[in-house]
Amino acid sequence: MRIAIGQLWQETNTFNPLPTTRRDFEEFGILRGAALVEQMAEVNELGGFIQSLRRWPERPEIVGLVRLPAWPSGAATLDTYHWLRDELVGALRAELPVDAVLLALHGALAADGAPDVEGGVLQAVRAVIGPRVPLVATLDLHANITPLMVQCADALVPFHTVPHIDVVETGERGAALLRRVLIDGARPVTAFQKLPMVVPAERANTQDPTSVSYRFREQLQALEVNPRILAAGLTTVQPWLDVPELGSAVVIVADGDADLARAECASLATEIWKRRRDYLGELVPTEEAVRQAFQAQAGGLVVLGDGADSTNSGSPGDCTQILAELVKYDWPRPALATLVSPEVVEEATRIGMGGRRRGPLGGVRAPRWSQPLDFKAEIVRGFAARFVLSGHLGKNLAVDLGPSVVLRQGNVHLVVTSRAGPHFAPELFETAGLKPFEASVLVAKSPCGFRAAYQEKAKQIIMVRGAGCAPPDFWRYEYRHIPHPLWPWDEIASWQPAPEVRSFAFGR
Ligand SMILES: [Zn+2]
Repeated sequence: MRIAIGQLWQETNTFNPLPTTRRDFEEFGILRGAALVEQMAEVNELGGFIQSLRRWPERPEIVGLVRLPAWPSGAATLDTYHWLRDELVGALRAELPVDAVLLALHGALAADGAPDVEGGVLQAVRAVIGPRVPLVATLDLHANITPLMVQCADALVPFHTVPHIDVVETGERGAALLRRVLIDGARPVTAFQKLPMVVPAERANTQDPTSVSYRFREQLQALEVNPRILAAGLTTVQPWLDVPELGSAVVIVADGDADLARAECASLATEIWKRRRDYLGELVPTEEAVRQAFQAQAGGLVVLGDGADSTNSGSPGDCTQILAELVKYDWPRPALATLVSPEVVEEATRIGMGGRRRGPLGGVRAPRWSQPLDFKAEIVRGFAARFVLSGHLGKNLAVDLGPSVVLRQGNVHLVVTSRAGPHFAPELFETAGLKPFEASVLVAKSPCGFRAAYQEKAKQIIMVRGAGCAPPDFWRYEYRHIPHPLWPWDEIASWQPAPEVRSFAFGR
């Protein structure tokens, strides 16, 4: 028995003007064949696949196809999309025949002229393997599931958590579902409901009992305990995606029972629709947020959640709004912030450690929402921003943000990296020689996922209403391609679910 595994991972933000290209995937780290199976055995969804498959008594051969990851950023170029698809399909063709395919996808990758990349990729994979070979794909909770994706896969298995702390478990769920199909003869039938709604990420914390998402996560997990349900998912989508099929979705995969899948899907969709307003969060304008942080920091660390310039959400990470406020205060303990700027890193490295750099920085990667800030910097140190991410988004995930420096003005310490990455992670600050949990204030470029690292240790968390490519009040921005009506852009008086039901296995 030969089971092929592969990964295509990138979350697209179409407001970020910086295109995602082949180089972004190559810099993050492409792996092929046996090297993929060896090096990803304990990392994220692929690790979940590999560990599970190794425990099967049938001892299947794990066939590594290709791992194609890039950090969230702007839309991929069309050439990049074609290259990604051809890489995956080419690797699969070279390994035929296989008995099944397991893919770890994000689900919100968009390219210029091809808004549904994962749909296209699943279609291409299905064309190669034909209708009889099972194809199961895992997805991020912020995936934009399309009818094409549902049509081409036997089953889609989304994350259940935000912060995304179940990446490995989702891989295990995908492999377990495949085992039900391949070994036990389960017949996956998917009920799929697109909801005409998109919600902010800030309050969608599935681990917080006061958040509306907490209950939905519990319901999804309870559904999966039922042996007749193979997978249950709610994807609340990446909001900063100006594409024609944007919307949240519920997918319920049952074993042969179309009525059960349809009923559970409709019931959950109805409830989510009713609770949509509960996702709207409280946000504090930048100036006020920093003022509040200064007042509160005496009692401990204050974390400012910067959703608008969240590098986790595909923002470019060089917005200077919060930084401009931070430098106005005399912080008793360090104030920590980050910036993405290969140019500043290069210039500071040229000047040398201990030297001074004057002049503007930041505000150039998405100039529509930010401007350069005059920062009188002492160049404190240079370092390689290479570390292993575990927590939100990652389990043993190696990331490399390139050559980096720490600049300082007063007690504001600015970590400047060459590339965007998890610009919230304590590991990033620690690699820079700073102590995130002992700071007065820390800016986390993330709308919600950062809570996995800071919720327990911070004195206070303040969500900032900033401007940028991933704004929390996205519906006030100009979208050109989204469908209408779509809440909260449009008020919708009444809505009823009518799930689509799809099955591959019945043709087998
Ligand atoms: Zn996500």
